[in-house]
Amino acid sequence: MKRIAILGAGTAGTMMANRLHRALGPRGWKVTVFDQDNDHIYQPGLLFVPFGDYSPEEIVRPRDYFVDDGVKLSLDGIESIDPDAKKIVLKNGDTHGYEILVVATGSHLAPQTVEGLTGAGWYQNAFDFYSLEGSSKLAHKLKSFEGGKVIVHIAEMPIKCPVAPLEFAYLAEAFFTKHGMRDKVELQYVTPLDGAFTKPKAAAAFGGMMAERGIEVVPDFLVEKVEGDKGENGRGVITSYDGRALEYDLLVTVPPHRGAAVIAQSVLGDDNGWLPVDKHTLQNPDYPEVFGIGDATDAPASKAGSVAHFQSEVLTENIIRFTEGLAPLPEFDGHSNCFIETGHGKAMIIDFNYETEPLPGRFPLPGVGPFTLLEESRINHWGKLGFRWVYWNMLLPGDELPMDHRMITAGKWA
Ligand SMILES: Cc1cc2nc3c(=O)[nH]c(=O)nc-3n(C[C@H](O)[C@H](O)[C@H](O)COP(=O)(O)OP(=O)(O)OC[C@H]3O[C@@H](n4cnc5c(N)ncnc54)[C@H](O)[C@@H]3O)c2cc1C
Repeated sequence: MKRIAILGAGTAGTMMANRLHRALGPRGWKVTVFDQDNDHIYQPGLLFVPFGDYSPEEIVRPRDYFVDDGVKLSLDGIESIDPDAKKIVLKNGDTHGYEILVVATGSHLAPQTVEGLTGAGWYQNAFDFYSLEGSSKLAHKLKSFEGGKVIVHIAEMPIKCPVAPLEFAYLAEAFFTKHGMRDKVELQYVTPLDGAFTKPKAAAAFGGMMAERGIEVVPDFLVEKVEGDKGENGRGVITSYDGRALEYDLLVTVPPHRGAAVIAQSVLGDDNGWLPVDKHTLQNPDYPEVFGIGDATDAPASKAGSVAHFQSEVLTENIIRFTEGLAPLPEFDGHSNCFIETGHGKAMIIDFNYETEPLPGRFPLPGVGPFTLLEESRINHWGKLGFRWVYWNMLLPGDELPMDHRMITAGKWA
């Protein structure tokens, strides 16, 4: 029996395990997917935990529930990879050989790489909302927060779901308004980018919404250090390399992201632990039997579940071709889309790829919608909430969704 090993049973690894098992199981391929625990977190739900809209328990389900019978799931953790010998070593010492390797180990948060961030004040007046621990502790903090200066901060790019910090800022504004304390809170959005977002049309739209909501955008801020108790009256201070020092009562930061340690420590990973891949075929340039998907790769696409989903269609096809001795097709175009919560029961959507920036229009049906691109609407908000059901019941099982993996320009207004 020929073996496919998938490293990581998160969003991308689970989809790939189910898709490859269905496509190649009948042709004699055995799929094994590896992880290190049995808790699958619905990460988009982490955004809602601090505001009390979801409980932590509501967004965690067992991984084994989503893996098809016939796929082997190992939860012993991967210790190392030897791509020359085509084998992986597990934390319990077992080894596992493969003919095809799919790297889906995602990214992890590295708050310790920012000087002082995990020192004084960490999880007291400085929090992340990208982990279950951070978002749960922030929820607790917000329950008793009496007002002051709140900074929503991105340490550096790339990060998962680059719009999530924007969403956090908009939802925080709505949360403080709803609780009758908006006048007691000063909100700043502090980013290493030169505006609220990277692409011009989206940056203008998101920046305009910041201004409407009275949130000040502080651009080009490359963080040098965080001091949780060095400000006036024991406030925290965040300082940039160009000498700007901002005081805060509450810092909500998105820490730097790195690839999984097991990839960084193998010959496969680059300096930050990402797996190099061809950005269109998702094949590793040095080891043709190694492919990457999702947040784990160095492809210049967004690190997002939607991207992992579009990639999974291309990668399944390319792995089938590989088993048939055919070259992979350069089919992945960088397609990404995302709902963006804007607070007060509304949301936006962006849809873009390597070549085309987010544009206004209607989605997914050109001219019809029902969703509105780069424009707030209530139906977008309901779409975002409904996506949780789609994630558990259609996306992870690897079912076909009524959406092309390539971005379509019809319905977009250039
Ligand atoms: C707050 C927040 C909001 C988000 N909102 C959205 C959104 O609205 N839309 C969207 O599309 N995306 C969103 N995302 C991003 C999305 O959740 C991720 O991009 C997606 O889950 C990536 O999938 P992945 O499979 O690449 O990585 P993951 O799902 O993180 O899976 C990686 C897996 O690898 C495993 N692993 C790593 N190292 C080892 C090891 N040594 N041994 C064994 N296993 C290992 C991990 O345990 C993990 O299960 C959001 C993310 C966050 C944090």
